[in-house]
Amino acid sequence: MRQSLSLFNTLTRRVEPVVPIAEGEISLYTCGPTVYNFAHIGNLRTFLFQDLLKRTFQAAGYRVRHCMNITDVEDKIIRDSQADLPAVASNQDRHSAMKALTDRFTAIFLEDLGTLQVLQADYLPKATDYIPEMIRLVQALEVKGLAYVRDGSVYYRIAGLPQYGCLAHLDREGMQAGASVDADEYERDSVTDFVLWKAAKPGEPSWDSPWGPGRPGWHIECSAMGMELLGPRVDIHSGGVDLIFPHHENEIAQSEGCLGHRWVNHWVHGEFLMVEGQKMAKSLGNFFTLRDLVARGVDPIALRYAIQSNHYRKVLNFSFEGLRAAENALKRIRAFRKRMEGQGQAGGGPWAEALDPLVRLDQARQAFWSAMADDLNTPEALAAIFTLISDLNAQDDHVALTHSERGSVLAFLDETDAVFAAWPHEAANLEAEVEGLIEARRAAKAGKNWAEADRLRDQLKAMGIILEDRKDGSSGWRKA
Ligand code: AMP
Ligand code: ZN
Repeated sequence: MRQSLSLFNTLTRRVEPVVPIAEGEISLYTCGPTVYNFAHIGNLRTFLFQDLLKRTFQAAGYRVRHCMNITDVEDKIIRDSQADLPAVASNQDRHSAMKALTDRFTAIFLEDLGTLQVLQADYLPKATDYIPEMIRLVQALEVKGLAYVRDGSVYYRIAGLPQYGCLAHLDREGMQAGASVDADEYERDSVTDFVLWKAAKPGEPSWDSPWGPGRPGWHIECSAMGMELLGPRVDIHSGGVDLIFPHHENEIAQSEGCLGHRWVNHWVHGEFLMVEGQKMAKSLGNFFTLRDLVARGVDPIALRYAIQSNHYRKVLNFSFEGLRAAENALKRIRAFRKRMEGQGQAGGGPWAEALDPLVRLDQARQAFWSAMADDLNTPEALAAIFTLISDLNAQDDHVALTHSERGSVLAFLDETDAVFAAWPHEAANLEAEVEGLIEARRAAKAGKNWAEADRLRDQLKAMGIILEDRKDGSSGWRKA
């Protein structure tokens, strides 16, 4: 049976049921990374929240069509990729330098997601592959009188769209008519016309366009890719809270300005990961990457659990104690799973005192799903699992669970693991790990990161895994 799920909608500021546009299917757009450096675990908190969201819909019986973009052209990417090029470098050299940087960090990013058991999106478009679609969207906005050209750049006229400000709940009085901003990122107190297409500056890679050489602004990228790949109506669009303004507000302006109707039904935003009261951010230098933590011996799945066991709309303070608590919680669930996988020894207590394990299981299942259905309330959903563990461990000490009762409990652990991806069956565990490493190796090869690809091959070899490249071009593996 398909479970109805509700989520907090930033647009209405209420928890609302998600009613799919197409029966049984959820279209989901998540803003992807800007690939100029390693993602930090603050960024990864957002991607883990989105994975939880997606897995919850899947486990609740929906088909999810998921698109996550890769932002591979943007102010910071250009700054970092062009720094070492001479002033006379050709446009082609500039594009190659940008691509070398973004390919490298795309592969690293996808590898990190694999390590964290984040499911791959169905569509993973790179912005630079959608330049014609972006140009067409800007042209459509020009035709509608929502865009104007100045010095080879094109700007969005926010006064032309009555709903501008609806997502960030902006005060329209405070908007500065006619003023415009070229930067991709700016603060709420400077609400102005924003740039759609930027005229080329010396030292920047560019594309030809009807307005002369230039490049897309950041916001137009997601509107163009989202509309192209998921269509004109989308169920859910999400990102971190910092994307509400200006990025998502501007995405709405671009897409709805062009479409003339509502584009996305549910806007869902995850809160920040903080360090000592400050947002974890590259610019503040207070960040860890996933690799930093793994090098310190942290189990990536404990990080996954530490993040997902907190509600996505609450600020989360990062700490090593939090990671240790997550490791302990996982140990408890995994030990229980092992116990249920074993034969069980009757404790010899009288049957009259026994609970009915199946009644307890049913209560736990209901509590789990009503918590998840209520805006992904993971702390309560996990509490339902821990209550079940205490009850059934006590019961099993007393009068052992039967084989069929154990089977029902294990089915529930599989059902909940489909959401949390942290307590898989041992064999499934190995399979997931191997598939993750193979995927990471494929990504490393695609990014021409040969040293990393070799390291991953050696790691698989050390695990006794033999890779097989088949005649039909596919590849597989087996245990030696
Ligand atoms: P970026 O690669 O900078 O475009 O960011 C990728 C995602 O990480 C965006 O959805 C941001 O909202 C999110 N993000 C950035 N910093 C944090 C943080 N400290 N905690 C949670 N999410 C963050
Ligand atoms: Zn976006």
